[in-house]
Amino acid sequence: PTTLREVTVERPSLTYRDIGGLAAAKREVIRTVEWPLRYSGLFDRLAVDAPTGVLLSGPPGTGKTMLAKAVANSTDANFFAVDGPELMDRYVGESERGVREVFERARRVAPSVVFLDEVDALAPARAETDTGAAERVVSQLLTELDGLSPRGSVAVLAATNRPDAVDPALLRPGRIEKRVAIPCPDAEARAEILDIHLADVPTRGVDVAAVARRAAGYTGSDLAAVVREAALLAMEDHLRADDRPDDADLVVEGSHLERALAVTEQ
Ligand code: ATP
Repeated sequence: PTTLREVTVERPSLTYRDIGGLAAAKREVIRTVEWPLRYSGLFDRLAVDAPTGVLLSGPPGTGKTMLAKAVANSTDANFFAVDGPELMDRYVGESERGVREVFERARRVAPSVVFLDEVDALAPARAETDTGAAERVVSQLLTELDGLSPRGSVAVLAATNRPDAVDPALLRPGRIEKRVAIPCPDAEARAEILDIHLADVPTRGVDVAAVARRAAGYTGSDLAAVVREAALLAMEDHLRADDRPDDADLVVEGSHLERALAVTEQ
């Protein structure tokens, strides 16, 4: 078992259906990450290489981690999550060892998906951050990426909200060459995301499309927060009522979502 707190291993249960919107990104990730893991024989037959790694690029809270977990789930792979900034916070020499250990373990228990969150912290583009220690982390990462076979059983997904801040050496062909945009959700995607987060919530009189339209600028994680806040507002009303109604009558109403939007204004 790993001694690295910054790295977690799991078998995620999250599926593509738990992710609202992102249709184009899902398709791209299925083709470029899932297929090589599942159907390497088809790539052999057509003599094409799959990208070794994919960069998910987009703002925080839009579903990058979810997408990486969904790929791991659908390929029955072990999911290794590396938090870039946390790994870099370790004292000198440890970060580099951390990178090596993650890939060692990922290979040992393959198929594996290695998720490098905030990869710009692991491999920054800026020369000013080039201390000896930071350089060794990058070169370890490059060594690991170059050691992966294009149709192997370890897939790498990296995430960043600042693609320009990632060391270009990492993004060369044969490494993390494929870039997949993870955009902020449009109104339709916001409605899908709200539907997902409201799926197990009893509601009454909720016009999800209308809430979604009003939530312009909200990310998936903002919308999850809106649903949580609406639930608390519903509870507040319920507990405050003079003649407290039956708990079985507690539901989230449209007005609670409206008020939650006002509280969490983006
Ligand atoms: P960060 O870059 O901050 O790590 P991220 O893009 O990896 O963000 P996630 O961790 O995947 O974001 O999402 C955070 C939470 O927000 C999820 O657990 C989920 O509740 C909600 N969420 C985000 N995007 C979506 C989405 N597309 N569909 C449904 N829920 C979403």
